[in-house]
Amino acid sequence: MAKRPGHVMVVDEERCFGCAACIAICPLSALELEGILAIPTEERCTHCDLCIPACPVNALEIKEEPLLA
Ligand code: SF4
Ligand code: SF4
Repeated sequence: MAKRPGHVMVVDEERCFGCAACIAICPLSALELEGILAIPTEERCTHCDLCIPACPVNALEIKEEPLLA
């Protein structure tokens, strides 16, 4: 499973409520809970997409990395 170049895993802070469903499903421990917010670790994430449908509030997305000016 190749990573999507120029993309990063992001968690929508407004939506995430810390249910930990994504953390339980990630095979690479690329997400961890900080309070009631899931925090991704981009270095570990392979963009496998497993966690995305596991989130009940659609807070996870693999987005194009914003270009730095
Ligand atoms: S895309 Fe895959 S590797 Fe990345 S956080 Fe989600 S389940 Fe883990
Ligand atoms: S599954 Fe969604 S709501 Fe639950 S901790 Fe992960 S990102 Fe947050």
